[in-house]
Amino acid sequence: MSTFVPASRVSNIKISPSTAAAARARELKAAGRDIVDLTVGEPDFETPAAIKAEAHAAIDRGETRYTSVNGTLALRKAIIGDFSRRLGLSYADNEICVGGGAKQILFLALMASVDNGAEVIVPAPYWVSYPDMVIANDGKPIIVECPERDGFKLTPDALEAAITPKTKWLILNAPSNPTGVAYSKSELEAIGAVLLRHPHVFVLCDDIYDQVWFKDEPMTTLVAVVPDLKERVLLTNGVSKAYAMTGWRIGYGAGPAALVAAINKLQSQISSCPSSISQAAAAYALSSDQSFIKESVRVYKERRDYACKRLNEIPGLSCVVPDGAFYLYPNCGGVIGKTTPEGKVIENDLDFVLYLLDGVGVAALQGAAYGLSPYFRISFATSMEVIVEACDRIEKAVMSLQ
Ligand code: PLP
Repeated sequence: MSTFVPASRVSNIKISPSTAAAARARELKAAGRDIVDLTVGEPDFETPAAIKAEAHAAIDRGETRYTSVNGTLALRKAIIGDFSRRLGLSYADNEICVGGGAKQILFLALMASVDNGAEVIVPAPYWVSYPDMVIANDGKPIIVECPERDGFKLTPDALEAAITPKTKWLILNAPSNPTGVAYSKSELEAIGAVLLRHPHVFVLCDDIYDQVWFKDEPMTTLVAVVPDLKERVLLTNGVSKAYAMTGWRIGYGAGPAALVAAINKLQSQISSCPSSISQAAAAYALSSDQSFIKESVRVYKERRDYACKRLNEIPGLSCVVPDGAFYLYPNCGGVIGKTTPEGKVIENDLDFVLYLLDGVGVAALQGAAYGLSPYFRISFATSMEVIVEACDRIEKAVMSLQ
């Protein structure tokens, strides 16, 4: 029997660790283990009823065929309207592309632009998919560690030092998965000043969490702060996180027309277009009543405040308070070197999350998967009841270490 041998672009990458960890938590639950799952990367809310109703209506109107590659006109208009209303940005129709999730747009943007050896600067901690997306497209991820003392943010000096003649992209994700931190206006100005000195560097601004935002001052983005970069920024976003629509698979990008045309060309050969029905639902979500976002953010914020407080009270752990998104990235440096009741020494953050899973049934993700240790990532996109139980269990686990 002949054995299948994958192409190097497959063997060179790994399955997303967060997807794998979520699957592992589900398996353990199915096997009867009492697991508190904090690996989830999606809202625990239902998609609002009015959005669902619009999808039904789209089916009834017969919107069940291929759409144009760059999405329906209604969706493109809704995206342009949303960027204009919230961020004061103005995009033309040929500067918008639509895909099966922001993930697909990010992948297509890299596929459209990265040639052999092109470098992509990825600040760490990073969303687990970025390095592998770069590798799958024959590029070279340049990981730049952004330590906690810098607020987990890329500094202008670190950016300057990472740029080479081969740099194609900088990926900026804010609020960040996994830390939840975002850049202030002055921090973006400083990063922008470096980028203006290096006109060959483009920027992928992944703002997928920008509406899960806890601060009083409004969230902003690089291109709004430094408009001179507009021809070099692809702003990506989507309906997954803000509207609890992860399964609908609609994401989009706004950026220079030539890059958008290249993305659309690839899309025409890959999926033709995302689901027509999901596009109708997304267009409605972006242009109708936005109260769902306000209410869900209020609930996330309560959970964030509770979980941060509890974790910061546990000796050996400490947690930066996130500006947005629904993750915490606690520092577990204080438990490294300690011994579990079973006699195992916790040598790194992977050992710690395995101890949490085996010892007290809490599923979390090790910081090593996000490129910066010793940390672990937990999601608070789950009920308060689950969060309280998880904090109790984590506390018990840490207190049992010697
Ligand atoms: N970017 C970041 C930072 C994410 O965390 C995720 C999802 O977890 C995505 C993009 C993908 O979002 P979408 O559902 O639109 O593909």
